[in-house]
Amino acid sequence: MKTIIEPFRIKMVEPIKLTTREEREQLIEKAHFNPFLLAAEDVIIDLLTDSGTSAMSAEAWGAMMRGDESYAGARSWYRFRDTVKSIFGFEQVIPTHQGRAAEHILFGVLVQPGMIVPNNTHFDTTRANVEYNGGEALDLPCAEAADLDSDYPFKGNMDTAALEKVVAEHGREKIPLIMLTITNNSGGGQPVSMANIREVSRIAHEAGIPFYIDACRFAENAHFIKRREPGYADKPTIEIARETFSYADGCTMSAKKDAFANIGGFLCTNDAELAHRERNILILTEGFPTYGGLAGRDLDAIAIGLCEILDEHYLDYRLDSTKYVVNHLVDAGIPVIAPAGGHAVYLDAGRFLPHIEALHYPGQALAVELFIEGGIRGVEIGSVMFGLDPHTGDEQASRLELLRLAIPRRVYTQSHMDYVLEAIGLVWERRESIRGIRIVEAPQFLRHFTAKFARL
Ligand SMILES: *Cc1c(COP(=O)(O)O)cnc(C)c1O
Repeated sequence: MKTIIEPFRIKMVEPIKLTTREEREQLIEKAHFNPFLLAAEDVIIDLLTDSGTSAMSAEAWGAMMRGDESYAGARSWYRFRDTVKSIFGFEQVIPTHQGRAAEHILFGVLVQPGMIVPNNTHFDTTRANVEYNGGEALDLPCAEAADLDSDYPFKGNMDTAALEKVVAEHGREKIPLIMLTITNNSGGGQPVSMANIREVSRIAHEAGIPFYIDACRFAENAHFIKRREPGYADKPTIEIARETFSYADGCTMSAKKDAFANIGGFLCTNDAELAHRERNILILTEGFPTYGGLAGRDLDAIAIGLCEILDEHYLDYRLDSTKYVVNHLVDAGIPVIAPAGGHAVYLDAGRFLPHIEALHYPGQALAVELFIEGGIRGVEIGSVMFGLDPHTGDEQASRLELLRLAIPRRVYTQSHMDYVLEAIGLVWERRESIRGIRIVEAPQFLRHFTAKFARL
């Protein structure tokens, strides 16, 4: 059968409030042209993020009822820890309330002012946590990532030649760790190959530098490897995930992504002494080491989600349904990052609105128009998110101007996606009349969350 079906049935629903175009014009103006400032109720299709927005299964809801809320050593903790160990393989597991808390602890322990953290592409909270500790967050995407149309299968890869140069120049005194983000979220949700993971691991270890994985979408990345990398077609995806982590010294994870949970995360390492220091901060900022910032029931939901996410029928559906949207856009001649990544569709706002210069924020302008057209909420990944140097206060154009439409897991059906495609098509038809945006006020760190904008 060629038809892709959602491999689940719906047994609980949430109504969507439908709004008119006139209402949406007013709503976005009241929200200062920042989709983050809209009330969720006023959004028809919410593609702001795939983070914490997944639909949990009957199994996971059932497991929540078993949650053990003992302060220390709860049964939920052991179920969580054993599941994490069985997939990720690290000796030390530290639960946190979400991914950025893991980053905050890791970089707080390892990064000192003047240090450099190379990554294929830092996610926004990862970059902010490196910079907050005085470090330089250095992005080293592979050259193929710059060509948004090429069908190179692993555009999430790190430029390993560039990494070798940086390592040779600065060494382990200035490089406290090297990170790979799988899949490469800010770089278009593109996967990283096992060959690249292995090579980054080799470079790191030859220089005596710890190698960490930002594991948020590890299952999608493993399934891309199965589909695209020679030699992996017949390997179970869970084995590919295990191999991935076997090359690393630790990882940070947001359970709000590839664990189907609404909250949660963890930090792993094989270094017991480092874990000891990390737990001391954990107790100060998150909670006791057997629950971190989470309730026992959250730990149980994550344990179930981590197993479900590796179901290959689910992953086939996940990758195919994202591809469905991207392929329709490509066929319509609408600029989008291709081939499709796992969790999101990235409209290329730079080419969608070529008459709007980077510091008039074409991605933000497109976000506003798509909300007005169809009540669809996406997020700019461009010069609003990355254009400000928080230390110098200088603004410069981001490498890419994108509008990310992230797809929550198991939440929307194909007809919702057809509606999204129609709305994008309508904005595309009137693109020449769309104007740029300016910032009215914004904070220094992570400004896209709370900035206020006006139309030019
Ligand atoms: C979401 C995400 C994070 C941060 O996780 P939170 O749970 O949102 O704090 C870090 N890295 C990547 C790649 C992410 O997608």
